[in-house]
Amino acid sequence: MAPAQNPISSKHVAVIGAGAAGLVAARELRREGQSVVVFDREKQVGGLWIYSPKTDSDPLSLDPTRSIVHTSLYESLRTNIPRECMGFTDYPFVPSDDVSRDPRRYPSHKEVLAYLQDFAKEFKIEKMVRFETEVVRVEPVNGKWSVRSKNSGGFSEEEIFDAVVVCSGHYTEPNLAHIPGIESWPGKQIHSHNYRVPDPFKDEVVVVIGNFASGADISRDICKVANEVHIASRASGPDTYEKLPRHINNLWMHSQIDIVREDGSIVFQNGKMVYADTIVHCTGYKYYFPFLETNGYINIDDNCIDPLYKHIFPPALAPGLSFIGLPAMGLQFYMFEVQSKWVAAVLSERVTLPSIDNMMEDLRLSYENLEALNFPKRYMHRLGRIQCEYLNWITEQCGFPHVEHWRDQEVVQGYKRLMFQPETFREEWDDDDLMKEAYEDFARKNLISFHPSRFLETKS
Ligand SMILES: Cc1cc2nc3c(=O)[nH]c(=O)nc-3n(C[C@H](O)[C@H](O)[C@H](O)COP(=O)(O)OP(=O)(O)OC[C@H]3O[C@@H](n4cnc5c(N)ncnc54)[C@H](O)[C@@H]3O)c2cc1C
Repeated sequence: MAPAQNPISSKHVAVIGAGAAGLVAARELRREGQSVVVFDREKQVGGLWIYSPKTDSDPLSLDPTRSIVHTSLYESLRTNIPRECMGFTDYPFVPSDDVSRDPRRYPSHKEVLAYLQDFAKEFKIEKMVRFETEVVRVEPVNGKWSVRSKNSGGFSEEEIFDAVVVCSGHYTEPNLAHIPGIESWPGKQIHSHNYRVPDPFKDEVVVVIGNFASGADISRDICKVANEVHIASRASGPDTYEKLPRHINNLWMHSQIDIVREDGSIVFQNGKMVYADTIVHCTGYKYYFPFLETNGYINIDDNCIDPLYKHIFPPALAPGLSFIGLPAMGLQFYMFEVQSKWVAAVLSERVTLPSIDNMMEDLRLSYENLEALNFPKRYMHRLGRIQCEYLNWITEQCGFPHVEHWRDQEVVQGYKRLMFQPETFREEWDDDDLMKEAYEDFARKNLISFHPSRFLETKS
């Protein structure tokens, strides 16, 4: 699908969210000549990367009347992929000359927020943002889109847009795994969305459910102050029981939980039992768009948003409604950028979408593939090994180069390190060659003002 040469149509577009996805979407839409209004509940740009010590009023986030905090960051959080592959393509996430900033390859969350703020400033995005303004309802009206919003002063407004791009994030509504007996288990429970610091777990016995990025980090954070930390991992075999090395002798890995009981005990599938004070659920998040009203056209079933062509466009409502950032993958910011380029090009009519029937047929085939692999529906937006193929397909739609070799490989190798050396992956790596390739690429494209050797020599 070759892009046409000139933008044909300028649209009035609402972007919901000024996190990484909303910021780059706003920039790409404006580049294609659209007029853009970005709505965000917060006072500043950055979305999830705006750390707050505050949490939801319900530590499990089950109470529908709870007060909600958007971020899920914990105080000690550092990025889980190297910074070079995390940045946008024409604004690399490289260490700053400012000594107050964090130059590490896997920097702290504060550095990511500073990067996003710099990005917003560089591309003058803030002037498009209506801060402290929550979108409370979005619905189609006579071929356009009605957006109702409410600002912090309680002022409510309804406006009509040609299109709405949803960039509201999906790491705020916790997902909880069912555990037999949990209703009468007497201990404390918290979801990782509401975890900030280890102090409340001092001298406790803690069971952490989940051992992917957050679970691995949080269990290591808590074991600095707790008596014992036990990780229950679905990914481990049923007999798994291992005392983890390198640690202060109080961290164990188990298979998943079999049952929890009224007396406070927790029995793992490996047959071991512990009496725990707290369960920390690091069990992921659910897609949730409480503002969206599509008369039943879009449904979320088993955490799969349906129907969505290429995880972006609901066929019968496209291109007026689109979603940026839904698939879970390593190259998040890159994905936001190329998805935004495609949406912007489609809205300006420089690029056309297939017919509704063809989009639905494509989706039918995707579901068939999922079924053939015996995966449940909730795996629909998990792209795993096909993430690069997906991203390259999107880039081809809008005439953008494929994912750089170094970017793809840094994520592949970074994830292997995260799995196999969770305590050390941020300090010890063996892909200096890829880092070199990245910095040389930035220099060749005139994206950095220093010679790559200045940075690379200090790292070796
Ligand atoms: C614990 C954790 C660690 C992570 N670490 C990494 C990492 O190291 N590297 C990486 O690349 N990715 C990481 N991610 C993924 C991360 O979510 C993405 O990188 C990215 O920041 C998400 O951006 P977003 O714009 O989609 O959503 P968000 O950053 O969540 O932004 C959404 C914005 O929408 C606003 N909003 C939502 N609803 C409304 C509404 N109704 N009205 C108005 N505004 C609204 C919110 O206020 C928010 O500002 C991590 C995620 C988590 C949960």
